[in-house]
Amino acid sequence: MNPITGHCKCGETAYKVNGPTLQVVSCHCGLCRSLTGAAFSTYVVVKESQLTVTGDPGSLTAYQVTDRTRRYFCRTCGTPLFNANPETYKGLRMLYLGTVRGHEQLEPAMNIFCESKLPWTMRHEPGQNFQRAPGEGR
Ligand SMILES: [Zn+2]
Ligand SMILES: [Zn+2]
Repeated sequence: MNPITGHCKCGETAYKVNGPTLQVVSCHCGLCRSLTGAAFSTYVVVKESQLTVTGDPGSLTAYQVTDRTRRYFCRTCGTPLFNANPETYKGLRMLYLGTVRGHEQLEPAMNIFCESKLPWTMRHEPGQNFQRAPGEGR
């Protein structure tokens, strides 16, 4: 399998993943909505230890979203690259699907935080749907 690579809009920040995709998840929580301005966010979950930032190291910056969540984005163009939540999702990084090259083949296998999803989203029936997250009830 070819390594997953991705980059921001301007190309100053980029990454490479030397390992498999663990999960592809669409999150419908209000936090993700306000972070991206989009109706929901789709993440490609990978291991932190297998993620290498390959662009200009000065371009990647982070915003502390909550006491648990950090969002990494390009200082120049503002594209979000990935999120980290070391407490809840230890050792993982959530790549923003739209930054992954060749993301057309990646399809979310689950939807989380469906309790707060916008009613017009997901009119088609995707894989698994969770009211919050796996293990927190459907
Ligand atoms: Zn950029
Ligand atoms: Zn979310």
